[in-house]
Amino acid sequence: MLSPIKVTPFKDELLSSWIVRLALANGTDPLSLSGAIFPSQRVWSRDFDKSLNVEFLKALSNISGIPISALTKLTLENHLSSILTPKSKNNAVWPWVIPLAHRNRVHTNGLHFCPECLREKDVYFKRDWRISWNTCCTDHELNFRLGCPKCNTAFSPHLVTYDKPDFCCCVHCGLDLRAVVQKEVDPEIVYFQGQLNRFLSDNTPEYPWKIKSKTEFFATLNSLTSFIQKTRSSQSKHLFQYLDINDSILNSQTSFSNSSLKERQLTVRCCFRMFSLQLDELIKLLKDAKVFRSSLRPTLHGYSSQTIKTIKQQLPSYKTYEKPNYQKSSQEIHPRSKDEVEKLMDEIRCFL
Ligand SMILES: [Zn+2]
Ligand SMILES: [Zn+2]
Repeated sequence: MLSPIKVTPFKDELLSSWIVRLALANGTDPLSLSGAIFPSQRVWSRDFDKSLNVEFLKALSNISGIPISALTKLTLENHLSSILTPKSKNNAVWPWVIPLAHRNRVHTNGLHFCPECLREKDVYFKRDWRISWNTCCTDHELNFRLGCPKCNTAFSPHLVTYDKPDFCCCVHCGLDLRAVVQKEVDPEIVYFQGQLNRFLSDNTPEYPWKIKSKTEFFATLNSLTSFIQKTRSSQSKHLFQYLDINDSILNSQTSFSNSSLKERQLTVRCCFRMFSLQLDELIKLLKDAKVFRSSLRPTLHGYSSQTIKTIKQQLPSYKTYEKPNYQKSSQEIHPRSKDEVEKLMDEIRCFL
């Protein structure tokens, strides 16, 4: 079976986006197309944007006329191949990939979108929209959005039907998502996001702290994101004051990639400010903020960072920090005199 209309993938497109476009271009919808190719599989309940096995890719290649090699390039596994380790892919949530979550067939997390990108002549869903350090569209300088502002349904373009094929509208209430007004971005976030994307795609960029390799940089970043999340719920909260960051966002206590866009922006901002310091300046700052050795985990999610190991070795252990002085005050507490109490009562009487 070969679909009559050939749909060529864009180089930065997600596999799911291309399947949605392929289905609609050929007069069907994504669920019907996947049902015809894989009748016994609930394809859309798995995250095939991450990776898809050869059998599935072969079937898609046969109906579309697009080579398997071109389809493989659309997967996140291929895009992140230089920074994912075999061990890191063993985790249910891959580092750097916003996990896809469902309630029935509707997404509850995963694909984000930029309203202005949906207004472009060629609309498709980009790989970068699933990468967790990307929280805004750098072309349009707008924050990404997960859901519809009217009914809160997460962006689920795979649920469009052939009689209502506009995937830029909310699949639940029909709101035109192109018209959504979105907050403008913070220049610091845009800068660091761009830098991280360059670090991923360039072969010999200059990493901070004289880090030599791509894997070492992203292993270090991974440990830092986890450290920041942990620090937010611990006593070392004053680290944020030292970094001049107002941490007033709810802590979901989940991994970086699984947290909300706002939380991820907070973490990215912290990482940027830490990487902006020299390594010895950072170590001094961590000591001043009373961060202790066990807060840092060099080996995490299948990564191991030598840089984090070096930082950790220079931090004191918990025991070496002074314990707060809980000794009783030597001053005895006496009740106030009647006159004093009357005077204080007069001051507050007007509020009673
Ligand atoms: Zn955009
Ligand atoms: Zn809606």
